[in-house]
Amino acid sequence: MTKFIIITGGVLSGLGKGIVTSSLGMLLKSHGFKVTAIKMDPYLNCDAGTMNPFEHGEVYVLDDGTEADLDLGNYERFLDTELSGDDNITTGKVYRSVIEKERAGEYLGKTVQIIPHITDEINRRIWNVADEDDFDIVLIEMGGTVGDIESSPFLEASRQLHMEVGDENLIFVHTTLVPVMNVVGEQKTKPTQHSVKALRSIGISPDIIVGRSDVEMEPSTKRKISLFCDVPQEAVISSPNADNIYRVPLILHNEGLTDYVMKKLELKKKNGFDEYMDRWQHFLADFENPTSELTVALVGKYCDLEDAYASHVEALNHCASATKTRINIRFMESEDFEEISAASELLNDVDGVLIPGGFGTRGIKGKMNAINHARTHGIPILTICLGFQISVIEFARNVLGYESANSSEFDPKTEHPVIDLLPMQRGIDKMGGTMRLGAEKVIINEGTKAHGIYGLTEIQERHRHRYEVNLDYIDEFETNGMIFSGKSSNSKRMEILEIKDHPFFMGCQFHPEFKSRPLDPAPLFLDFVKAMIKERDGK
Ligand code: GLN
Repeated sequence: MTKFIIITGGVLSGLGKGIVTSSLGMLLKSHGFKVTAIKMDPYLNCDAGTMNPFEHGEVYVLDDGTEADLDLGNYERFLDTELSGDDNITTGKVYRSVIEKERAGEYLGKTVQIIPHITDEINRRIWNVADEDDFDIVLIEMGGTVGDIESSPFLEASRQLHMEVGDENLIFVHTTLVPVMNVVGEQKTKPTQHSVKALRSIGISPDIIVGRSDVEMEPSTKRKISLFCDVPQEAVISSPNADNIYRVPLILHNEGLTDYVMKKLELKKKNGFDEYMDRWQHFLADFENPTSELTVALVGKYCDLEDAYASHVEALNHCASATKTRINIRFMESEDFEEISAASELLNDVDGVLIPGGFGTRGIKGKMNAINHARTHGIPILTICLGFQISVIEFARNVLGYESANSSEFDPKTEHPVIDLLPMQRGIDKMGGTMRLGAEKVIINEGTKAHGIYGLTEIQERHRHRYEVNLDYIDEFETNGMIFSGKSSNSKRMEILEIKDHPFFMGCQFHPEFKSRPLDPAPLFLDFVKAMIKERDGK
């Protein structure tokens, strides 16, 4: 029998529910259970693909091409697993399938309603995930905050699921905020009490309360929450701010979360933690005890919101541990690089440059200047997706001499479209889920730098793009020193580029950051970091 753990959030958003969910999953996985995680997103979008990163953070891409909420990235990283689109249930997906069934006549004669039709569809999707791989435990994170109109069908569905499977098979973990009033330093429990009341009013009683706060919860605070919210004191878990997200599982475990969850779900305790936890602790020890440091400039256009580049940050964190180096990431607005003279000043004290993906014309010139500076000054640089495409344009303009070279994304009438629309994209006018998405095979040429990095001639990496390198120019690039060392299996899509005679100039059309794991950093990122270390240390 699969056990379910439903994680809800109260008081306000941004409490780190996703990290609590991922951490609990990690703890149960390292107790030997087969665990997976689902994110419920109460928005009406079918997926996160059409959302601006400014509004919702990074769009995370799964192997199957689903454009998902960034929490799926945390689940994949903490559980070291690969999820699918079925693991991100949105209101849009649920309503779409109910409406399609209604049109197909499947509910003939019935009035189609939120209860039971929408709630049944939500639970059908949950069971579908639970059954597809015989999971011991399915974690379900409820997006939004209890009390939101949007999330009520999801909460109602989980209330019904609880009725169906019983107390020993489903528990609710409620994450709330325990603020500290600075004047008196008192830890306040009222917001928690109110949000538990809101949860109760819809028929859900939390089994566990995780209190997020700046500092550790006092025993008296726990007692009060226990008393007013009707949960045993051992089920009140303190989750103070952690130095880094990878420490959170250990904090929660030391608070007794794992033991309490197992007791409530009547799970047989396996003999302590397994090797996964050992490796995790090593990762953490190296991450928290760096022996040197370096600074990398991330030149992007969504820099006001760090979450817009969440997987880049984590991929660098994974490499930080693997190399015992503190990696400072300097988020830099590409528009600040519009004057080429600015680039040398802005990049004066960084060890490397990372140019991430993106869409649209804003900030392109600045990214191009940053790339030009790194290329001509031997600064290690990794360019990804849009970054990769701009490095091709920069090379065409400044090395091949095609001054007007461009991507047809930015100038549809350009004389030299060195980046052009993918043939399969012609005629597509719908925006949602229509890019070249997900894991695709990349064939790497032997003897290239990319081959040395991956140690393989065939890899799978995740994609999300509409444009690509124009095949008409390949020979010219290659004779002038830009090598395309990775290509799609039919050789028609350029996937990896490298420049000879440069300490590290690599670009990729795919997104290596999505496959980086704490215990298995993305090879391109790791080699980039090693190159920065080598340059910093004067080789
Ligand atoms: N805008 C570019 C394209 O669609 C790059 C996309 C990206 O960086 N994810 O091809």
